[in-house]
Amino acid sequence: MPESPVKEITRRGFISKVGQGLVAANVAGTFLKAAAAQEPTVVPDAPGKKLGWAIVGLGRLSIYEILPAFAKCEKSKVVALVSGHPDKANKLAVRYGVNPKNIYNYQNYDSIRDNPEVDIIYIVLPNGMHAEYTIRGFQAGKHVLTEKPMANTPADCQQMIDAGRKAGKKLMVAYRCHYEPFTQEAIRIARSGELGPTQVILADAGWCATDPTQWRLKKDLAGGGSLMDIGIYALNAARYLSGEEPTEINAMVFSQPGDTRFKEVEETINFQMRFPSGILANCTSSYGYFQQSHFRVLGTNGYLEMDPGTWYRGNRMRRQHAGEEDKFTEEIEIPERDHFALEMDHMSECAMQNKEPLTPGEEGLRDIKLMMAIYEAARTGKTVRV
Ligand code: NAD
Repeated sequence: MPESPVKEITRRGFISKVGQGLVAANVAGTFLKAAAAQEPTVVPDAPGKKLGWAIVGLGRLSIYEILPAFAKCEKSKVVALVSGHPDKANKLAVRYGVNPKNIYNYQNYDSIRDNPEVDIIYIVLPNGMHAEYTIRGFQAGKHVLTEKPMANTPADCQQMIDAGRKAGKKLMVAYRCHYEPFTQEAIRIARSGELGPTQVILADAGWCATDPTQWRLKKDLAGGGSLMDIGIYALNAARYLSGEEPTEINAMVFSQPGDTRFKEVEETINFQMRFPSGILANCTSSYGYFQQSHFRVLGTNGYLEMDPGTWYRGNRMRRQHAGEEDKFTEEIEIPERDHFALEMDHMSECAMQNKEPLTPGEEGLRDIKLMMAIYEAARTGKTVRV
């Protein structure tokens, strides 16, 4: 990596060799050159039509990630909020320029059908509520983006897919990583053969769930434990990095005995998958270990790693090749983009152009079926064929 001009001029040895005036002139010149070099040569077109979005559920993800991301969207704007807390909704409406008449609660949510400003509904509620609010959204005649995991059961997922088809509207599951450039490059490298044939994929995703009262620890609202919430990232990564669907699954579960947080859902789960080409995946998820989000693709001629791999920002990618063991691992630098803005604009584009989303309901259903198979393997202690 070339050093930046700023780093260059802060070197004490350099400053000591030349006078301050010369430094000032050089600094100005350096900055001008650097600024000119960085100036974009292509000016993006002014955003065209933006579709109107309603955000359902104003929790942490909506407040800290989704609503701020609209500022970076080219095809999406927030026009409505749905919440059980009018004070919070009013405050956010002022902040994001949402007309107060477009604030709904969970009771009058269905009347959103009469609001032509709303094209797309984004469900950001606890997992166990995704199916109901998605289906009601379709019945209101809107397109729906729902958060992951798609729902608690395959049957619920199928009902969501059917409701979308009946309404003639798009259904997308919010697998934001599929839309951001690091993940897209990782997928390209892993499937390109540049690392040689992939032998093994390792993926871990977890965090420490300290608040014992949160909905994520309640089976009816969460559907399961760490697997449903965060292990889904490891599962989905193994699938998108291999480009294949698993055929066999083994799993083991552990929850600290007597820990009241894990009365209804699991703490830690390890699972292994076999893919048709022979790739094996070892994955873990946990509500008990310190935050992790990484994966490694081990090929015959090299490896690729992302650590962190699926965070909202700050992800890093490295690779190393056979024959280059004496060199440092190569860091792959890619300009970072806002995952949520990319994901929402993709959905708007699909709605505008009548295209199938990259992560449709069927993709969400596949993960839910596989997670049910992982739980079955853990429960029975037997390999589950899928
Ligand atoms: P959160 O607990 O911060 O927010 C949940 C919201 O749902 C709150 O506004 C709450 O008031 C509302 N709600 C309505 N009925 C509720 C009920 N009966 N019990 C509890 N809350 C109720 O959760 P969050 O972190 O914003 O997660 C929301 C969804 O987004 C989940 O499905 C989660 O898996 C998903 N999520 C996705 C990502 C991602 O990166 N894509 C990240 C975090 C969360």
